[in-house]
Amino acid sequence: MIRIGQAGIPLSCKGRTNKDGIIYTHAVLDLNAIEIQFVRGLYVMPEEEAKIIKDYSEENDIEIHVHAPYYINLAGGTEETEMSFGKIMRAAQMADDIGAKTIVIHPGFYGENSEKKTLKLIIKHSKKLTGMLKKEKIKSKIGIETMGKQKVFGTLDEVIEVCKNVKGVLPVIDLAHIHARENGSLKKREDFERIFEKLKPLRLKHYLMHVTGVLYENGNEFYHLPIKRGDMPIAPLIEIILDNNYNVTLISESPLLEHDAIYIRLQVEKAIMKRTEKEEAYYKDLSEVV
Ligand SMILES: [Zn+2]
Repeated sequence: MIRIGQAGIPLSCKGRTNKDGIIYTHAVLDLNAIEIQFVRGLYVMPEEEAKIIKDYSEENDIEIHVHAPYYINLAGGTEETEMSFGKIMRAAQMADDIGAKTIVIHPGFYGENSEKKTLKLIIKHSKKLTGMLKKEKIKSKIGIETMGKQKVFGTLDEVIEVCKNVKGVLPVIDLAHIHARENGSLKKREDFERIFEKLKPLRLKHYLMHVTGVLYENGNEFYHLPIKRGDMPIAPLIEIILDNNYNVTLISESPLLEHDAIYIRLQVEKAIMKRTEKEEAYYKDLSEVV
């Protein structure tokens, strides 16, 4: 199954609440995923809105993920770690209230520490975090994102290492971040295949992926671009997903948000049509191609 959506409330949606955003994603855009942005630390979702979102997403089969506040550091000092736990737990509680699958986090910074020490700290604190989730009976899972800057913890290998060591923590494959960090490494089919190959030991049943164009230099991302203006093609990725029948959610993080989510959808449908040799395709129906 391929799910497609965007990060946050669609730009073209007049209402600006998360409830408006999810309804619009389904009813107007006919997409089936969203990553709700809880990136501002003090945001509180009204209980009533949470209930509506949860019911609506279940009734209409929309998959929800949430993004926790950006500034989190699970590899800093005690105070910073405690503060990060607080932010994550608040996002996690809201995530659980709306039935979100994943709470996406940016795990932290190397700071003064070596890469190895940072990895150790992040594993240790992620374990503590999953314990806290369990205690609060939160079903949403922590998702650790691959990061696009050299000084930030989160190469693909590091993220996989954390997931191997902490049960219940999942990788969030931000493709543009991998591409930027590796100076434009994702161009051909085998480049994307390498990612799935590396992820194999985790035996994932589902892949959450972020997709956008990205401007980068010397292994650091500058900012996101529309997919078509970046140099990371998505057609090879779609081919791999269809060939392997991967269960994938593709979240557009492009500045064009839903417009690029629709672009992804059109690329998927184009790939289906190529396979079926028909003039129509619907991204939700892969019955003839997998
Ligand atoms: Zn992120």
